[in-house]
Amino acid sequence: MKKMTAPLTLAASLLSLTLMGTTAHAAVTEAPSTVNATYVAPSLTRALKPGEKVDNLYTRNATQDYVLQKLTDHTYWFQRQYYGTIFYVGDKGVLLFDPLQGRAEQIKAAIASVTDLPITAIVYSHDHADHIGDAKAFTSGNSKLRIIASEETAEKMDFLNSSLPAVTETVKWPDGTFKFEKLKVELHGFDRPAHTDDASAWLLSSESIVHIPDLINPDQPPFWAFAGSENYVYFDANLEALSKLKWDYLSGGHGNVGSRADIEFYRTFLSDLRAAVGKAMGEVPWGVGVDGSQVNAHTPFLPAWYEAIAENAVETLRPKYGQYYGFESATHENAIMVAETLFSYQ
Ligand SMILES: [Zn+2]
Repeated sequence: MKKMTAPLTLAASLLSLTLMGTTAHAAVTEAPSTVNATYVAPSLTRALKPGEKVDNLYTRNATQDYVLQKLTDHTYWFQRQYYGTIFYVGDKGVLLFDPLQGRAEQIKAAIASVTDLPITAIVYSHDHADHIGDAKAFTSGNSKLRIIASEETAEKMDFLNSSLPAVTETVKWPDGTFKFEKLKVELHGFDRPAHTDDASAWLLSSESIVHIPDLINPDQPPFWAFAGSENYVYFDANLEALSKLKWDYLSGGHGNVGSRADIEFYRTFLSDLRAAVGKAMGEVPWGVGVDGSQVNAHTPFLPAWYEAIAENAVETLRPKYGQYYGFESATHENAIMVAETLFSYQ
């Protein structure tokens, strides 16, 4: 295995620690599939069939430089240390979605393993540095590189004084398109985005692929805090909007290659989580966990109530979902977010 030589940013050093932590242990048993997927070993020559997934993905992330899988004649799925994206190989150049932070070197190596063509365009899917933070590694020495983002993302980066390379082409928000050689890419921004205010689905319709980081982690229950959702309230509405688009492969930024079954799993999980939290809100008494005679502020009551509700809800869900990837570390926080939503919107 090659040593990671990316700049030692905070994120990269944390990720190196993660990698060391996981490789130090003996082989682990992979969590079962949430969608009863057929697993195959990754291949650069055999396209994945819709519904198939890459096998032993946790272990591969922990032990390999990167994982690369052919999705179609032109498009490949890449993952390194639990962050993923896709790239499209045209006739003259390569279109890369999301220059993932701390992973430029491996992305370039993966692309070079299937084509000699240069990277001529990159897309910022949304303004989160963990997904687009290595852009500089692609722009340096490549002044003609197209940097494409939605109007919403470009304006947001301006507003927040982003230090990342500036967008050179914007796509109309919430619905727009751009061309890359013969490929037409459609932007579908959400009316009320859950993850970030610039979250959207990027649809490569002729490839039947959608790229939408941080909504669904395929083959896993929702990640902690719904993968950093700034607004959980609209999460299910975003899943519904995504399900109305036509695609066979989903690139979720994390997790395995997704299929439509992953949306179904998420919607069932959310429905079960809402029911479990609702039941817990009826069972857990107000004032739990706080000695009212010992406090001089009302502040501790609400968080203590949410904590107890989340514990109760996680227990309810554990028999059905406990064996799935990361359930124990993610679901308590997600239950708190659901409780806040049910409390606020009645
Ligand atoms: Zn994000």
